[in-house]
Amino acid sequence: MKHFEVIIGLEVHVELKTRSKLFCGCSTEFGADPNTHTCPVCLGMPGVLPVLNRQAVVYAAKAALALQCTIHSYSKFDRKQYFYPDLPKAYQISQYDQPLAEYGHVAIVNGGEVMKTVGVRRIHLEEDAGKLNHLGQRLGDAKGSLVDLNRAGVPLIEIVSEPDMRSADEARLYLTELRNILSYLDISDLRMEEGSMRCDANVSLRPAEYVGSLEELPRVEIKNVNSIRNVQRGIEYEVARQAELLEAGERIIKETRGFDDQSGRTYSQRSKEEANDYRYFPEPDLPPLVLTDAFVQEVAGSLPPSTMALREELREAGVQPKDIEVILSDQGALTFWRQATTLFDDARLVTNWMLSDLSRLLNAHGDTFATSPISPEGLVELLNLIKRGTLSGRMAKEVVDKMYETGKPAEAVVKNLGMSQITDGEAIKKVVEEVVALHMPVVEDYLSGKDKALGFLVGQVMKKTKGQAKPDVVNTTLKEVIRAVGEKT
Ligand code: ADP
Ligand code: MG
Ligand code: ZN
Repeated sequence: MKHFEVIIGLEVHVELKTRSKLFCGCSTEFGADPNTHTCPVCLGMPGVLPVLNRQAVVYAAKAALALQCTIHSYSKFDRKQYFYPDLPKAYQISQYDQPLAEYGHVAIVNGGEVMKTVGVRRIHLEEDAGKLNHLGQRLGDAKGSLVDLNRAGVPLIEIVSEPDMRSADEARLYLTELRNILSYLDISDLRMEEGSMRCDANVSLRPAEYVGSLEELPRVEIKNVNSIRNVQRGIEYEVARQAELLEAGERIIKETRGFDDQSGRTYSQRSKEEANDYRYFPEPDLPPLVLTDAFVQEVAGSLPPSTMALREELREAGVQPKDIEVILSDQGALTFWRQATTLFDDARLVTNWMLSDLSRLLNAHGDTFATSPISPEGLVELLNLIKRGTLSGRMAKEVVDKMYETGKPAEAVVKNLGMSQITDGEAIKKVVEEVVALHMPVVEDYLSGKDKALGFLVGQVMKKTKGQAKPDVVNTTLKEVIRAVGEKT
């Protein structure tokens, strides 16, 4: 394959979790019966007037500051006209040439290091459209379509990146970090499957002779992809498709494409030229949005610690880069981790147990750290038993399963199972002597230099003690007893 530079810019729509819609008092609740959350304003009746939701502006400003944008003291709303059944007014109220905020950036982190910084071109506020439910498997063979306007008028922010990403992987990392940042602001549910976060990916290639220049070829926009993984897959497919066309000497057409989850392919929806005349003009029913310094200061004062500060907190506690990213990507996990590490001073052991055994159980039961039946205190109790030597690591794995199943604390489970590590040297010595007496030929092998024979004897002791003897005590005791035998003979 010829060398191409891959150019990617992402447009991300995020539904804000205000209680009411952007320009009316209707509820934004997800999953209600169709058209039950509607009123003359969001149904686009004539003669009604929109009133801006203050909370939506606060949320948008939070996002803008967290993405290090400049918030404009003056922005305005515009009408974006298009004709489609999900849009009762036949225009969407959005922001066009004077958006709420511009010039931000997101640092992409990989392996604990900042890999690059992606520019955020702009963030603007707009209203969502309704939802069409097609009566059929695919739009093409649908018998009809039903319109649900519950979502019409729900506040959105659109976050438009600069075309700074150079691979599908970078796009994935950008989206992951964007979602991390927004999740700590608590301004959106950020559920891509439910559509509360949606991504359009713009992809173009730059032939080798132009790499590093500003030369542009037509770009393709992949619309409304419903998971980060699929954004990555869609881009990978698109890069290969465009490269193949260019290598065959063909042209790329500027168009909008959809992504098919099943096949992993993108498919043409419409060519962009014809669809792109939105005839924007200023919204006459809304005054300009004027934000004072005092307002911006107040919002700035309410921001939580940045994701970079959270990474630093975890790093200082000794958590490994890969684990930091896993914990950071789940607010519930971070809260759990913090509670557990205030009660137990070995942050690594806490992290390991959280991300291996507890995660395994949570995943298997469809739970999360926020809803975990084993609390941070419960996990710490278990870790204390390991630390005191009452339980071996292997036994603890069995205990944690039972804790999860029964909801009982670690100590109770250990008692019930009659399980506790034998650390008593005398008790172990008795078993060791029995094993030695039973397997004299093996003992002699060991004495004559076959080191491997010891493993067999250790195994026999563990078997007799049902795995509950402390392995290091078994080892030293065995050696002592054998040495004594050796001296006698
Ligand atoms: P439009 O108004 O047609 O949507 P914009 O210029 O506002 O176009 O850009 C939309 C998105 O396209 C942005 O995220 C931007 O980063 C991205 N983009 C711009 N140029 C390119 C390009 N050559 N290749 C890929 N993406 C691009
Ligand atoms: Mg666009
Ligand atoms: Zn309404």
